[in-house]
Amino acid sequence: MTQTSNFETILLEQKRYFESGKTWPVSFRKAQLRALLKQLKQHEEELCKAVFDDFGKSAIEIFMGDLAVVYQEIRWLLCNIDRLAKPKRCRTNLGNLPGKSRIIMQPIGTVLILGAWNYPYNLTLVPLVSAIGAGCTAVVKPSELPTHAMKILSKIISSTFPKEYIFLAEGGAEVASYLTQLKFDKIFFTGSTGVGKMVYQSAARNMVPVTLELGGKSPVIVSPSADLAKAAKRIVWGKFFNAGQTCVAPDYLLLHRSLKQTFLEYLVGEIKTRKYDQGAEQYVSIVTSKHLERLIALISSEKVYYGGGYDLASRYLEPTIMVDVEEDDPIMQEEIFGPILPIILYDHFDDVLKYIGRKEKPLAAYLFSQSKEERKAFLTKLNFGGGCINDVVMHLNNIHLPFGGVGASGIGAYHGEAGFLNFIHPKSVFVRSKYFEPTLKYPPYTKWKKRI
Ligand code: NAD
Repeated sequence: MTQTSNFETILLEQKRYFESGKTWPVSFRKAQLRALLKQLKQHEEELCKAVFDDFGKSAIEIFMGDLAVVYQEIRWLLCNIDRLAKPKRCRTNLGNLPGKSRIIMQPIGTVLILGAWNYPYNLTLVPLVSAIGAGCTAVVKPSELPTHAMKILSKIISSTFPKEYIFLAEGGAEVASYLTQLKFDKIFFTGSTGVGKMVYQSAARNMVPVTLELGGKSPVIVSPSADLAKAAKRIVWGKFFNAGQTCVAPDYLLLHRSLKQTFLEYLVGEIKTRKYDQGAEQYVSIVTSKHLERLIALISSEKVYYGGGYDLASRYLEPTIMVDVEEDDPIMQEEIFGPILPIILYDHFDDVLKYIGRKEKPLAAYLFSQSKEERKAFLTKLNFGGGCINDVVMHLNNIHLPFGGVGASGIGAYHGEAGFLNFIHPKSVFVRSKYFEPTLKYPPYTKWKKRI
């Protein structure tokens, strides 16, 4: 049997399993979530070692960015699933009385989950947890780039679940592309905007609904009213965690011209304090040599204020700050997704809003400011997926906030309740009482004629 016909068989078997109703009871879903949690905990060491082997990420950072997030999602769902899965009572309009209205939280069916590589467990398992919680069956295709992480995930999934319930497909772009052409009931994709567009097109051919968690260039603004020391500390952390390979990392900095020298000193001081050295526990490698070469090509050496060094053998790229960057510089033409922070200077806050407003809507935006007017303008005039005031990245960490993009940075949102709802069809149902018949709707319309 070829790999592709194997996928079609699995999809068919998963659809049958779903239709058997086995995955629908909340007790079943809870048991599966507990089983997954147990397996992950039992394999924690192997899971950490795999990502370390892939791109040198330390166990602490794997815990912070991957495992703790998945554990939180499972625990939150276990506490909330009874409430979420229950049919919702709704008011009934006067014309439909006597009768009852309900929304049934119907599991959407058999779903496809495609993950990106940068947080290999988080980006694959968080949506899977929501799909299990919603009562779906699922095929999961993690990124092929962190090969060790993909192998251990595959081992855990296949030893925890039968393949007609949850199946992990290994492989690269060809496998992913083939899967998106099949008639799943939902596709949940995390990755780049370019590939997201292809997934959207394939899904449209079968009228398959999608959630697209994409990327983009997320700006951070530092205004003269900001606490500069705190701003530098938080921006440096958010930018260089995972060596900038985070979808919501600040991509570029818009800095008020008057702050240039002071803020650069704060930034460099903060980078030195954090010790992002080659091989350091707190600094990961670039995922592949190809990715590193792309990043090096984006650096214009005459604009480097700090850093710029690299080592091809260990795929190390030093935290790098570029100054006096202009809109048409190569670094401003694509999502950086690496440890390079370009700085563009501004004179008026309005110009900043106009600059961001003429670009694609970003996945995240951040503002460091104590000014009420600036905060209000930032929140009302700009359109972005989500963000923070006086911090970066941390909105992602709140399970009560739906996380997702807008426009080119994505469609839909997840985490917590928003995640669960991705895999639910809210089925609206009206139950008519047998006692009363509204006569006006039935022809002949003689009674209407008297009224009109
Ligand atoms: P990518 O788009 O290259 O790959 C993502 C997934 O798509 C992988 O599993 C890959 O195998 C698959 N894929 C590749 N070609 C495909 C095709 N033709 N059809 C269907 N699937 C295909 O992204 P990446 O390099 O893994 O991740 C980096 C990107 O992801 C960045 O743009 C980043 O901003 C974004 N990202 C977004 C989020 C978010 O939550 N919004 C999170 C992490 C990463």
